[in-house]
Amino acid sequence: MTAIRIDLFSDTKTRPSAGMRQAMAEAEVGDEQSGEDPTTLALNERVADLLGKEAAVFLPSGTMCNEIAIAVHCRPGEEVIADRTAHIIGFEGGGPAAIAGVMINAVDGRRGMFSAEQAEAAVRTPANRYFPRSKLICVEQTSNLGGGAVWPLTQLQSITEVGRKHGLALHMDGARLFNAVAASNVTAKDMADCVDTAWIDLSKGLGCPVGAVLAGPRDFIDEVWWWKQRMGGALRQSGILAAAGLYALEHNVARLADDHANARILAEGLAALPGIALDPATVETNLFYFDVAETGLTAAQVNEKLAPNGIRFSAMGPTLLRAVTHLDVDEAGVREAVKVMGDIVGG
Ligand SMILES: *Cc1c(COP(=O)(O)O)cnc(C)c1O
Repeated sequence: MTAIRIDLFSDTKTRPSAGMRQAMAEAEVGDEQSGEDPTTLALNERVADLLGKEAAVFLPSGTMCNEIAIAVHCRPGEEVIADRTAHIIGFEGGGPAAIAGVMINAVDGRRGMFSAEQAEAAVRTPANRYFPRSKLICVEQTSNLGGGAVWPLTQLQSITEVGRKHGLALHMDGARLFNAVAASNVTAKDMADCVDTAWIDLSKGLGCPVGAVLAGPRDFIDEVWWWKQRMGGALRQSGILAAAGLYALEHNVARLADDHANARILAEGLAALPGIALDPATVETNLFYFDVAETGLTAAQVNEKLAPNGIRFSAMGPTLLRAVTHLDVDEAGVREAVKVMGDIVGG
């Protein structure tokens, strides 16, 4: 089998760079469970600061950040308002139901983003013993199934108003928060100010091998620690991993703009090919979807034909593919992907 060289499957496919590996090798470490790992403590402080929150905690994955946050915010039987396409609904193994015991009130937003009016309509009022209690609103910045769409700050703020008005907590899945920052003139702090709790993923576009950091008020983070221990997510010499995170925050944030530029080149190239349905104007960040139905090929067939060329996308439906750019794919790589796709679909 040919090795995949141009891996547009996901930004999770990034591998730690030489510089990152060196930072990991040199990390000062201690026992994280007892608060003795200086590098993890430094990373927590750095992320809390970037997001304007009182405290933060390093966790093994973004999924664990979401699941623990929901468990801390909600009691069983309470309801979470989220877009129908949200990662917490479709890609976390039913965790909100299995772990926190919550109901989800799924909202049909646009490109993974719902309006304040939709949020308002989803809140169960007036509270009575028949309704599940509305408790939490979740937003995903950027929206994954929405095609890397960025919630505008004003839209986030209007959702916050709805949450505050009804006494709900607000949580941000910030798996790609820094992509949203790179694509807008808004800081991570201004976006995170719209919610009580937020997290960033280190293992996506930031290029780390493992980890995510969840931030929020001090008392929330105290409770997160309880769940982290309970779920087996408390670590030992995690400074090795946290060092990668600190390195990424230093070196891999500003360069996300390159991934966005490459995604645009890729999208424009693909959109010009026959039978590919894609509007490049909707590409805001490093991730987009396109449909190959009109080429007569399925998504799986496209990937089969790409594989011998060392290229792959992610097949998300019978004829739907997802492309994600990241720091291990350069401009020459996306141009090559367009060329090979042209050979496959006859462009
Ligand atoms: C990848 C992803 C997650 C989960 O993060 P992991 O670190 O892979 O567990 C959560 N939300 C969104 C939007 C994602 O894309």
